[in-house]
Amino acid sequence: MFAEVDLAIDYSRRHVYKGVTKGQFEAITEAMKLLAEEDQERGMDAALQIACQGCGESRGRIGSVEYDGIRLCNRCATDFEVARISHAAGSCDEYVAKRRAGRN
Ligand SMILES: [Zn+2]
Repeated sequence: MFAEVDLAIDYSRRHVYKGVTKGQFEAITEAMKLLAEEDQERGMDAALQIACQGCGESRGRIGSVEYDGIRLCNRCATDFEVARISHAAGSCDEYVAKRRAGRN
């Protein structure tokens, strides 16, 4: 007889992204949410759009972040912070170049 072992470990919840812990990911998303809230509190027009250099889409200016002259939408900025912390990307330049290569 074999002892029954519970192997139902939910690995998918351990790492949201490769190389980033759930705690790190939550800290990043929380910081990005705060940025968007601050923009709203400052009275930024919700209709303002930016041309995001990460995804190449026109997105809301609220919550967007500029890194060394490169503007990313809130979603891409979150993605970049995750890439940076997991060492998948060093600079924003490098991140944008990788995204661009992925689109071509
Ligand atoms: Zn974007």
